[in-house]
Amino acid sequence: MSETKPYRVLLYYNYVTIEDPEAYTKYHKKRCEEMGLKGRILIAKEGINGTVSGTFEATEQYMDMMKNDHRFHDTVFKIDEADEHAFKKLKVKHRSELVTLRLEDDINPHEITGEYLNPKDFYEQIQRDDVVLLDARNDYEYDLGHFRGAIRPDIENFRDLPDWVRENKEMLEGKKVITYCTGGIRCEKFSGWLKREGFEDVAQLHGGIVTYGYDPEVQGDLWDGQLYVFDERIAVPVNRKEHVVVGKDYYSGEPCERYVNCAYPPCNKKILCSEENEHKYMRSCSHECRTHEENRYVMEHNLSEEEVAERLRRIEEEDGVKA
Ligand SMILES: [Zn+2]
Repeated sequence: MSETKPYRVLLYYNYVTIEDPEAYTKYHKKRCEEMGLKGRILIAKEGINGTVSGTFEATEQYMDMMKNDHRFHDTVFKIDEADEHAFKKLKVKHRSELVTLRLEDDINPHEITGEYLNPKDFYEQIQRDDVVLLDARNDYEYDLGHFRGAIRPDIENFRDLPDWVRENKEMLEGKKVITYCTGGIRCEKFSGWLKREGFEDVAQLHGGIVTYGYDPEVQGDLWDGQLYVFDERIAVPVNRKEHVVVGKDYYSGEPCERYVNCAYPPCNKKILCSEENEHKYMRSCSHECRTHEENRYVMEHNLSEEEVAERLRRIEEEDGVKA
């Protein structure tokens, strides 16, 4: 953060009641368009959640607008500097909930949530023996980077996390449970849900991984790998003291921090892989995806049937199996 870059990315949320969220969504979108912002903003009756990018001036203007609105005046903005926009478009959407948990009985974080830990307290407590550290994000986020020793829930969607906890209760029982997520919004509800579920000692990283990375004292210590972000940047650094790569190439197992999506659109699985392996395996997670007639890699590269057959032969020769 030594040199000032021309753009900034803002990450923020606020659980606060918004009356007539549909009308407000339209108004909010118009204002963002006027400022030239891009990004993704969700507006619900329970609050607002967004990541936006824009010039320094545009992001200042946006934060001023929010601070001058009595509902949003206390919103905490996590600010990243950037060379350019982190999004291609602006999407401002009305939703029924800010994070998709789809609980039969919703959680209001103002009524029930885990203890808030600042980065320093989090850093100290996650090293204790009576603590279990639970990553509240999805498997592909964990695979790119996570806190040392954290449990990896085997889920592709946040809404599957409660079921995962119920099936793996014994990992958490009798311990203090500490959760963390990217910016803190998922933990607000999830830690509240854990308490309602009967876990007595539950805490959450306040402000999430992003805040932890910028804390001048801890500087992201005990974080390994990179942080998965839901914009064009995909991966951003967290640990300012050391960088340990934990990501592994899907095909070779080599250290890797480069994500691509499976080239068969209905699959779209996130795959960590080198450029070389992307081409060798035609950016596909399986033989089925690789040989499907709608494979996008094959279309993008205009591969003939012979060329596809040649690549498949090479995979079989080198790997011994239909990888
Ligand atoms: Zn696939």
